[in-house]
Amino acid sequence: MITPLFGGIEGGGTKFVCAVGTGPDDIRAETRFPTTTPEETMARAVDFFKQQEADLGQLSAIGFACFGPLDPNPDSPTFGHILPTPKPGWTKANVVAPLRSALGIPVAFDTDVNGAALGEGRWGAGQGLQNFIYLTVGTGIGGGAYVDGKLLHGLIHPEMGHIPLRHDKTKDPYEGNCPFHGDCFEGLASGVAVENRWKVRGSELPEDHPAWDLEAEYIAQALASYSFTLSPQRIIIGGGVGSLGHLLSRIQQKTQQYINSYIQSYIILEHIETYIVNPGLGNRSGMLGAIALAKQAIK
Ligand code: ZN
Repeated sequence: MITPLFGGIEGGGTKFVCAVGTGPDDIRAETRFPTTTPEETMARAVDFFKQQEADLGQLSAIGFACFGPLDPNPDSPTFGHILPTPKPGWTKANVVAPLRSALGIPVAFDTDVNGAALGEGRWGAGQGLQNFIYLTVGTGIGGGAYVDGKLLHGLIHPEMGHIPLRHDKTKDPYEGNCPFHGDCFEGLASGVAVENRWKVRGSELPEDHPAWDLEAEYIAQALASYSFTLSPQRIIIGGGVGSLGHLLSRIQQKTQQYINSYIQSYIILEHIETYIVNPGLGNRSGMLGAIALAKQAIK
């Protein structure tokens, strides 16, 4: 029997990563290119997979974990479309149709963070758990939830980056930069917000800069909210900002303070370092998550 081969797309707002393989130890080809227009970007993805099929053989399915908001519901007339987004040219773009028509195989489509959650559940820090959250804090902020053993979609899909937070303007006068909500979580704590507030890139701010205590504060508020509402067994936090090693222990401590012993679990009370963790797959959660989505598509 031939082992099925899968394609994965991690579609980000600034770059696309396409890969072919079956899992973390078996990625046979990989490419990345900048996100331009939907037409041009999807054409490059199609070209890559066609070339790989010529070299490696027929793919069984493609998983596409994409920046959102998007319509992941296969029964919806707008399945495969990007929903209104500040990213120019992408609103209402049907990004699944070009793949399906050119390659003629199933395409599983979900948010980048749901994809990453699935990848972490299969091969990373969510292994063995039925309920956990994957949160990315980078250029934007988003979260995927794995609930009772499957990805949570609900009405459309969760938007964990846009929850309101307590914002003390005497301490942090920055107004926030979310085009929809101003000072929501993403508006206050994304990499863009850090740069706008301090007028310097986050990567250039030293570990003892006050930026990081404020950042940990906002992230901890959000994690406490998710802990109260979804009762996850673990929260995995990745992304360019979320993966910063020096931030993790601050986030753990502040989240514990916000919860204030109200959730009576020894994991939170005594082992917060196992409750809030960085991704087991490093920065490969998204791409491997897309492969995991593809695998799910042919079950
Ligand atoms: Zn917002």
